[in-house]
Amino acid sequence: MPAAGGARAHGETTAYGVKPLNLHRAVQKLKERGLKLTPQRLEILKIVMEAGRPLTAREVMEAARATHPHISVDTVYRNLTVLTQCGLLNQVNLQNRESARFEYQGEDGHHHHFVCLECGKSFCVEWCPTATMHAVPAQDPGFRVLAHAFEVYGYCSRCQPSD
Ligand SMILES: [Zn+2]
Ligand SMILES: [Zn+2]
Ligand SMILES: [Zn+2]
Repeated sequence: MPAAGGARAHGETTAYGVKPLNLHRAVQKLKERGLKLTPQRLEILKIVMEAGRPLTAREVMEAARATHPHISVDTVYRNLTVLTQCGLLNQVNLQNRESARFEYQGEDGHHHHFVCLECGKSFCVEWCPTATMHAVPAQDPGFRVLAHAFEVYGYCSRCQPSD
């Protein structure tokens, strides 16, 4: 696989492809879907953006409680999902809600991840499999594609058994 060279670890540096938050663009993206940038939603977006690494809904909730003391993890998760659906955030670890993390995607930040099943560390990859596959199913050439998900699971070099 041509991935290793293009992989980048989250954490030490800022997340892949991130440009500073353009509030006007964020508002527009939400408006396109008939959604508002409420103070809560803006706070959640800022937290994820400033983290520079993917955060769980619980981590976002803990940070958001500084300004919204009664915010619940459900509310945070719902807002993270809305922000992901309109392309502002990117969900890392798609397997389930418990392991999901969210990172700021910014403009043109579309990319995929390798995820360690042991420690949860993720690596951004700069290639997309849909670039080299047929975009629609042969059985239904009229299929209208809106989005796609792709993720690779395994163990990072630190988490592999040493035997
Ligand atoms: Zn690991
Ligand atoms: Zn990433
Ligand atoms: Zn892709």
